[in-house]
Amino acid sequence: LSSTNGTKIDDDFEGYPIDMFCVPKHYYNYVENILIPRGVIADRTERLAKDIWDALGDGRPIVVLCVLKGGYQFCSDLMDYIKAFNRHASKSVPMRVDFIRLKSYENDRSTGEIKVIGGDNLQSLEDKNILIVEDIIDTGNTMMKLLKIVSDHNPKSVKVCSLLVKRTSRSNNYKPDYFGFEVPDKFLVGYALDYNEYYRDLEHICVINEEGKKAFAV
Ligand code: 5GP
Repeated sequence: LSSTNGTKIDDDFEGYPIDMFCVPKHYYNYVENILIPRGVIADRTERLAKDIWDALGDGRPIVVLCVLKGGYQFCSDLMDYIKAFNRHASKSVPMRVDFIRLKSYENDRSTGEIKVIGGDNLQSLEDKNILIVEDIIDTGNTMMKLLKIVSDHNPKSVKVCSLLVKRTSRSNNYKPDYFGFEVPDKFLVGYALDYNEYYRDLEHICVINEEGKKAFAV
């Protein structure tokens, strides 16, 4: 049984109060609530890794393409679970990892303009089975643009795994092959997701308050 539709978090879910979990002091006044605690992220990631691993062929290598910066924590944790399955099963899937860096956000708004600002030489994707790992799909524009860039390099196959998919009227209806959670249309930080480079060092996925935006606005 595959679970690729993602766990739905309803709009009226208020999240967990911050004093229920551990939050660093430097963000204490800025977090409105904790939407997804780290432990829940970990357990859902394990299941996504299993779904992905089950669908892969024995001994057939994949290239994991991690979308920086927001995807680094999820990608690392997802790969750790796949590596564990590889160690303990009779089947194993060799993995390579590449990185690509995209930028589309300033403050909490998409600039509409998506820039590739670094990463490996994409020629190495030719004829490979690619798994793109991303933190969040909002409008879907970034992923559509990335899929175009990747497919221009003639890969054998491309799958996309995103930890989060936002429920938003701005969506272009793109849905990844695998995703962890469908989330309300709020700006989220933590677990490597940032607001102007802050909050990546927060363990849980959180909603920030107005003060938390003002403090780090550019
Ligand atoms: P899209 O092109 O799908 O609108 O946006 C995708 C990118 O915007 C993500 O890779 C992420 O960098 C950023 N983004 C979208 N929503 C959020 C959010 O709620 N929090 C953070 N930190 N980044 C977001």
